Amino acid sequence: MYDEKTTTLLFFIINLLRKIRKFSNMAHIIIDEEKCKACYFCIKFCPRDLIAESKEHNRLGYFPALFSEEGPEECTGCKTCALMCPDTAIEVYK
Ligand code: SF4
Ligand code: SF4
Repeated sequence: MYDEKTTTLLFFIINLLRKIRKFSNMAHIIIDEEKCKACYFCIKFCPRDLIAESKEHNRLGYFPALFSEEGPEECTGCKTCALMCPDTAIEVYK
């Protein structure tokens, strides 16, 4: 019915919509990368191992922490990362 290119595009759109829906229903965090000073307390203390170092630096020259929705487990919204952050760079949504 559809050619290969159209089918691939449709699958991509469907998967994207699924991810957006999943993300909006899940607890998650948003890290302000420009405020982050790369102490990595959040990485060390996240019980779900959901935060990692970015490979790109921010305007201050730090390699900020990044939230990964593809971690081994889901974010529980426990707020540990936000509580540990000395720069108030993390917001938690639950
Ligand atoms: S809220 Fe808890 S589980 Fe979620 S990223 Fe922060 S420390 Fe990890
Ligand atoms: S705790 Fe805050 S300042 Fe430290 S790495 Fe995480 S987001 Fe950056």
